[in-house]
Amino acid sequence: MRYVFPPAAPACVPIAGSDAVFPVRRVYCVGRNYADHAAEMGADSREPPFFFSKPADALVPGGGEVPYPPATGNLQHEVELVVALAAGGADIPPEEALEKVFGYTVGLDLTRRDLQMRAKDKGHPWDMGKGFDHSAPIAALQPVAVVGHPARGPIWLQVNGQSRQNGDLAQMSWKVAEVIANLSTYVRLTAGDLIFTGTPAGVSAVTRGDRLTAGIAGIGELSVTLV
Ligand code: MN
Repeated sequence: MRYVFPPAAPACVPIAGSDAVFPVRRVYCVGRNYADHAAEMGADSREPPFFFSKPADALVPGGGEVPYPPATGNLQHEVELVVALAAGGADIPPEEALEKVFGYTVGLDLTRRDLQMRAKDKGHPWDMGKGFDHSAPIAALQPVAVVGHPARGPIWLQVNGQSRQNGDLAQMSWKVAEVIANLSTYVRLTAGDLIFTGTPAGVSAVTRGDRLTAGIAGIGELSVTLV
């Protein structure tokens, strides 16, 4: 096999306490998975989960400086628990889903809300509102062997030291096992897939120079400065 140009290296996420890294295949995201955020977006909460994707190379491992994206006047933060898969399958039963998990971390689903809203209004795809460059800052993965399977505990985000999002993982409408099981009815999941599992209420607009600090108790923290 001869490539016409060298293929890009896979996106990778660091693993806490290890010099190995997690090579990423796909990045899936769940929409509206906390009732209070669904309400602030004007939606019902216990509808079946729905999914969208971000390109793997939209990840910003470790956070740090993130360029304010073009084509928006309303960039918003969404702090999320991220699930990393060590195995996959299709039609995974919920009771077997957690066996597929490699680990967890905290990530940001950065969103060009104006573009997403326009797309919703017109029935257009969300890609340009969600899947832009640098739209997915992510902290180091914590292996299940170290942190287990978090089902409750604070998930929070501050902007310039001011609290904006304060939720609890227990508020997730669809739990991690249900999310994996449901997603695997649409696509075959494999090792290397990440799933952003949705955000609690409190999303708000941020601008150049803002410092975002986010965390999930027992899992980790992530800081981003918009430049
Ligand atoms: Mn989200």
